[in-house]
Amino acid sequence: MPAADRATAVLTVDLAAIVENYRILQRRFAGREVTVSLKADAYGVGAAAVGPALWRAGARRFFVATLDEGIVLRGLLPSASIAVLHGLTTGPVAEFLRHDLLPVHNSIAEIDAWLAEAPGRAAGLHLDTGMARLGMPPDEVAALAASGRLRGLPLAFVMSHLGCADEPDNPLNAQQRDRFVDACRALDVSAQVPRSLVASSGLFLDDSYHFDIARPGAALYGISPTPSRPNPMRPAIRLTGKILQLRYVDTDSTVGYGATHRMTRTGRVATIGAGYADGVLRALGNRGHAIVDGRRVPMVGRISMDLLTIDVTELPDDAVQPGRSVDLIGPGNDIDTVAASAGTIGYELLTRLGPRLERHYLAADASAAGNAA
Ligand SMILES: *Cc1c(COP(=O)(O)O)cnc(C)c1O
Repeated sequence: MPAADRATAVLTVDLAAIVENYRILQRRFAGREVTVSLKADAYGVGAAAVGPALWRAGARRFFVATLDEGIVLRGLLPSASIAVLHGLTTGPVAEFLRHDLLPVHNSIAEIDAWLAEAPGRAAGLHLDTGMARLGMPPDEVAALAASGRLRGLPLAFVMSHLGCADEPDNPLNAQQRDRFVDACRALDVSAQVPRSLVASSGLFLDDSYHFDIARPGAALYGISPTPSRPNPMRPAIRLTGKILQLRYVDTDSTVGYGATHRMTRTGRVATIGAGYADGVLRALGNRGHAIVDGRRVPMVGRISMDLLTIDVTELPDDAVQPGRSVDLIGPGNDIDTVAASAGTIGYELLTRLGPRLERHYLAADASAAGNAA
């Protein structure tokens, strides 16, 4: 059997849609630079496919979390600028130099380690403006400003990260923006150094947040950057599972582990060859839906490791024959909807897609590739 017929669960990644999403963000950010966040293997979608597709679409600067992610990406994109968000905590200076990776410095200690071994070499700087997560907090920014160290450090960019950008009315956004401006001023950051505050959601805040560089990830894959408004992005991810068996079940029978679903009528249950090992989160048991023949049908019973069950009583026979595929993520059941059913966010859903999935990449079209440098 060809591989496509063997697979019981298939992830389809539409690279043309990802490139189109990049263009949508570029239009939104007209005149400035849209870089790409490719951490966690491009949010589980596959950096080996997404990175080169976006490079051909014109992206030149990429962000990853760790040195090792950077080394992998360097192998795929020999000429790109690649910045490592977790910086020197993820590996030695020599490795950053060997692979031409830019560390993002999150502390004075990291700056000192860099200055000692890589004098004159550029790096990024992350300022914590209120997330209390990564970057230099205000007291350390003040110490850095007073120390004069930045005179010896060419800055590739200065960045901060918004904690509530998906809530446009949250007052923390303006507070973080103002603190970012203040911190850049305290550090006497030159106007030539690009500044970066926004990722996917921040791109949809007003201009005062935009500065010079955006670092979106999620929106490229179709996750909504504007949860309180219609999603401006194109869907790019589809997850399908094959019907393995069909069961006729009587009133009062139960379905699956723990007997958590009891049939209240005589009906039909289809067993799909996808489970939590494939990234169909267990939290979707008795809560999620599949789309079969354009109709939304409920997942019944718990999600197993390799299987899940849906109630297809209402569907015509030919729609539910073993061998047919149903949509688990796709039109009518987008990433955000599925994530919400599981009590999580699209980001987590994507990064949990399992290694067993058969992955199909739909090529970005020739016109997208036409911009290749
Ligand atoms: C993950 C991350 C991004 C990308 O965020 P999205 O919401 O996926 O666009 C940008 N910057 C930093 C610091 C991040 O951690």
